[in-house]
Amino acid sequence: MSIVNTVLGPKDSSELGFTLSHEHVLLSSAGIQDTFPEFIPREYAIEEGIRQLSEAKAEGVDTIIDLSTMDLGRDVRVIEAVAKGSEMTIVVATGTWLDVPRSFEMASPDEVAPLYIREIEVGIQGTGIKAGVIKVANEPDVSAAGEVILRAAARAHQATGVPIYTHTKAVNRVGDRQVEIFEDEGVNLNRVCVGHSNDSTDLGYLTGLMDKGVWLGLDRYPGRDVEWQERTEVLWKLIQRGYGTRLMLSHDWSVAATMMTKERMAERPSRNPDNYLFITRNVLPMLLDLGASQDQVDDLMVNNPRIFWEG
Ligand SMILES: [Zn+2]
Repeated sequence: MSIVNTVLGPKDSSELGFTLSHEHVLLSSAGIQDTFPEFIPREYAIEEGIRQLSEAKAEGVDTIIDLSTMDLGRDVRVIEAVAKGSEMTIVVATGTWLDVPRSFEMASPDEVAPLYIREIEVGIQGTGIKAGVIKVANEPDVSAAGEVILRAAARAHQATGVPIYTHTKAVNRVGDRQVEIFEDEGVNLNRVCVGHSNDSTDLGYLTGLMDKGVWLGLDRYPGRDVEWQERTEVLWKLIQRGYGTRLMLSHDWSVAATMMTKERMAERPSRNPDNYLFITRNVLPMLLDLGASQDQVDDLMVNNPRIFWEG
């Protein structure tokens, strides 16, 4: 048992319940809300976020991890309003995604780490809302700027005990390089989850990472390029090989995302009419049909996230 920071305050890890490990409410870019607020559908995101997450809550989702960082336009007051309105438990992130500020590229990890630590220990955007996870992202590979972020995240993790959740380009095996850097920093890999891993179907890559000691986020559903059924078949193979206690599932869904084209936003409801419930309504029934037990499903959705946050 341990204490997890959520957007509405600290919570016991045993109370997280059914958890989606990598989601978003509203995605945008840094600074736009302050400068060009008319570009961001803020009120829509709050209203629609409350609607979709209330529905998810009613069908058994207890917690989502919102992995939006400053460079994803994180607006912690939006997330707070959605959490209050939907009664969904939401954990928010510090860290940095792919739009690494040029200023961070010129900084050392020891200059960036205290910024993350402050968001974990004091609060985000002038609020007392504290981050419960550290997000990092590398794509198509680990750039020089990306390495600054990984090392800063490692040091913020070591100072606070808050776990690290990564974004990868899985088909480029970016998780391998992330693990090398975390090992070099002396990070306990049991506190790291390598995300977007179900964009790869390479069992050698996936089991190799888990054998090193990290968790895997199979956190794109329904996803693109690889169909959701194939993602679920790979998941079942991993469970059958004994890795079911090292995996977490999620959608990487968002209510609104200003960095997607109008066309892509328009096709989203037809690709995923279930939004935060796609896993509940499609993936878990298929997994049970393939032969998984309810206990194995509970590991993925309840026990594994709890253990990941407990460390
Ligand atoms: Zn994401």
